[in-house]
Amino acid sequence: MENIAYIDLLTRVLNRRGIEKVFDELNIETTQTTRYAVLMIDIDHFKLINDQYGHLAGDNVLSKIAAKLNRSIHPNDLLGRWGGEEFIVVTLNRTTQQAIELAEKLKVAISELIIDDIKDITVSIGVGHSSEAESKIDVLKIADDNLYKAKKSGRNFVCYTHVTS
Ligand code: GH3
Ligand code: MG
Ligand code: MG
Repeated sequence: MENIAYIDLLTRVLNRRGIEKVFDELNIETTQTTRYAVLMIDIDHFKLINDQYGHLAGDNVLSKIAAKLNRSIHPNDLLGRWGGEEFIVVTLNRTTQQAIELAEKLKVAISELIIDDIKDITVSIGVGHSSEAESKIDVLKIADDNLYKAKKSGRNFVCYTHVTS
């Protein structure tokens, strides 16, 4: 995955097209033995960071957060910039519980960052797991819905689907 078309130039992680390509080619849909989880990670109140410290400082926060996420995941996990201030992690061979633990770890790691004197940087994370849906699209949708709930819960929060059985 060295093609520049698949790399986000600011953060040096995969861009959305790159993530979609790798995720697509993983071929995990048919092999039910391979579990995976999707973590949708959105920076909280990022607009305020831009407004208070300027767009360049905002850019720096984005690249430092990407680097921190990159250091905090497993080498086999995929990290990408999904959109403006939104990142995605696709993690392989983790149970739902392990995926939630990873999300919590990432949330805490980001909240401890101090970048150019900017404190209180937090993210909200929505988790979706392959055991919850048939298709990758649906797992993404679950992660997205849970991200929305994490935002509604007050931010700096991890949300996942509670399984009752
Ligand atoms: P929320 O907690 O609800 O996610 O609030 P938010 O402010 O993070 O979300 P919102 O969608 O209102 O604003 C996202 C901001 O991210 C607006 C946009 O200018 C900024 N942004 C997107 N891409 C970049 C970028 O590449 N660099 C910088 N500096 N800012 C960016
Ligand atoms: Mg956003
Ligand atoms: Mg945001």
